[in-house]
Amino acid sequence: MSKLLRPARVLLLGPPGSGKGTQTARLQNKFDLCGISSGDILRQHINNGTEIGQMASSIIKTGKLVPDDVMIKIISAELALRNWLSPTKSWLLDGFPRTRVQAEKLDEAELRPADARLNFVVELKVPTAVILDRIANRLVHAQSGRVYNLTYNPPKVSGVDDFTGEPLTRRPDDDPDIFAKRIEEYERLTEPLVDYYKKADNVLWSVAGDTSDVIYAQLEKEVVKRFGDRV
Ligand code: AMP
Repeated sequence: MSKLLRPARVLLLGPPGSGKGTQTARLQNKFDLCGISSGDILRQHINNGTEIGQMASSIIKTGKLVPDDVMIKIISAELALRNWLSPTKSWLLDGFPRTRVQAEKLDEAELRPADARLNFVVELKVPTAVILDRIANRLVHAQSGRVYNLTYNPPKVSGVDDFTGEPLTRRPDDDPDIFAKRIEEYERLTEPLVDYYKKADNVLWSVAGDTSDVIYAQLEKEVVKRFGDRV
């Protein structure tokens, strides 16, 4: 585990299936960096049958996005709970903000007042053909959010989670028709978001590759370059 010398407040952007979760996990293993995944938080709500979960479940199934005000509330509460609204803390967001409104609100209401605005926004660029192939082979352990790929990262025993032995499932929103809608939605919403972060000096950074390994090697190097590290 390496320690960052300067606080890193990171956002990972990328189309569904681009490996945001994988990159998050690898960064967390390498650096002392905790992360929040908005998709995982919503799936926890769904598993726990909360009011938010019931609402989110019907939306997620259709490939649409959960309303901005609901997402902002959930993530703001999470940031406060973890005591992350401080200029000295390092953390990583996966999947939020996902719209320009979410980005602006997060800045105005939470990050700017705490002098803790995002200082590294990573845009993952993976060809759509590669993503579609990955999704066709993706299985998840719903309770933990652990992701397997039948080609690159299969479970040790077919169909069950390596750690709990519980059955793996397909995400309902990985259905091909719904998935196509999610990619469309991502492209429509991401352009204004990327434009927003382009305005901030040296915050936006793009990385392209067909595999998580190719992308991760570049990402780790860039994190070290920007935030330093001490083994
Ligand atoms: P993910 O695991 O990041 O692909 O998220 C799964 C689903 O959760 C998305 O397709 C959305 O329906 C919903 N979701 C996750 N994050 C957000 C967000 N920031 N804003 C709106 N909806 C979200």
